[in-house]
Amino acid sequence: MILRPPADRHRSTPSRHFAVVGAGIAGVACARTLIQAGHRVTVFEREATAGGRMASVSTPFGRFDSGAQYFTVRDPRFTQAIETAPGVCKPWSANLVRVLDAHGRVAEAALPGLEQHWVAQPGMDALVAQWAAPLGDSLVTRTNVTRIEPDALDATRWQLRTTGDDDSQHVYSGFDAVLLAVPPARTRELLDGGRLSRTISKKVEPVRIAPCWTLMIAFPQANQPTMSHLGPQWNVARSTHHRIAWLARESSKPGRDRIERWTVQASPTWSQEHLRDDRPRVEAKLLRAFAEITGIRAEPSHSQARCWPEAQTQVPVGEEHLWDAKARIGVAGDWCLGHRVEDAFLSGLTLALKVI
Ligand SMILES: Cc1cc2nc3c(=O)[nH]c(=O)nc-3n(C[C@H](O)[C@H](O)[C@H](O)COP(=O)(O)OP(=O)(O)OC[C@H]3O[C@@H](n4cnc5c(N)ncnc54)[C@H](O)[C@@H]3O)c2cc1C
Repeated sequence: MILRPPADRHRSTPSRHFAVVGAGIAGVACARTLIQAGHRVTVFEREATAGGRMASVSTPFGRFDSGAQYFTVRDPRFTQAIETAPGVCKPWSANLVRVLDAHGRVAEAALPGLEQHWVAQPGMDALVAQWAAPLGDSLVTRTNVTRIEPDALDATRWQLRTTGDDDSQHVYSGFDAVLLAVPPARTRELLDGGRLSRTISKKVEPVRIAPCWTLMIAFPQANQPTMSHLGPQWNVARSTHHRIAWLARESSKPGRDRIERWTVQASPTWSQEHLRDDRPRVEAKLLRAFAEITGIRAEPSHSQARCWPEAQTQVPVGEEHLWDAKARIGVAGDWCLGHRVEDAFLSGLTLALKVI
């Protein structure tokens, strides 16, 4: 089926129709900025909701942030954007983060005065969800973009081939430009090995991004009247254990359920080595390492592992975004600048400002 915008009325005005692929914070920041500037935007998202790696999962024991744990705010443009979502973002005392040695002993206590850490509530997905809400029907979810090609009826424009999560296939056409806000492996695929933009492909080629296995575990037994929580007195720690890089007591974040819950992130090296392992095996190994570090040996009532094949940038592009004016293709994402939520936001924002 070919889905065409209702009319070409934007053609004679400066207003253009943009396809944005990916509704993580970069794609949503980009789309909102374009709409505010009077352009027409269609955002395609593979998953059921916006948010991308700012993800939360609901369980019978409360929510877990399965991706980004918190964000920091350094750029005034991000500060300004955060202020548009009052009540959603709350400071979190993660700046009391400890550094642990390989045996789980505190090797370095947190220094006071570290920069503020923020979380969205009730889960990290809430910020992008709030920003995506005004997109309405312009956000097309459960729709995986599989190919970008010249519009069959107008070679000066682009069309996108998509597959829905029910395997239905569509072609969306009539786009003046395509802006990709997806992780690098998908970007490379959609750029079709440089066929769509050699300039952009050359800059994307050296980018490296590490995977991350994440374990989410709940201990509701710890909330008995006689016990407020299990294990260590700290809530957040970086670890030098060879398996685990980060541990956070989810229940210590603002706006969360009090049931004792931990999110544990494996180190990039261990995640890479175990990328193809099956879930139960990874769960068991991470649980053992968690027990070694925290001393919590109780059996969790809930345990769930998730693998992010592309989690944290190791080698970024080194530019805010990429834009090929001749091809009318752009690229945004945290990995253009770095590895943080704020990098993703700034990348999406500056790409939109560039094409405007
Ligand atoms: C485990 C983990 C922990 C992290 N911890 C932190 C942290 O503590 N602090 C911090 O600042 N950052 C952290 N990050 C990084 C942070 O999550 C990212 O920087 C940020 O969310 C990236 O946003 P983005 O919009 O660039 O990409 P993404 O959030 O990855 O968004 C891309 C979107 O594109 C969609 N998509 C992909 N392919 C297609 C396609 N073909 N068609 C349609 N849609 C598609 C995806 O479903 C996704 O929604 C962490 C990331 C992970 C995974």
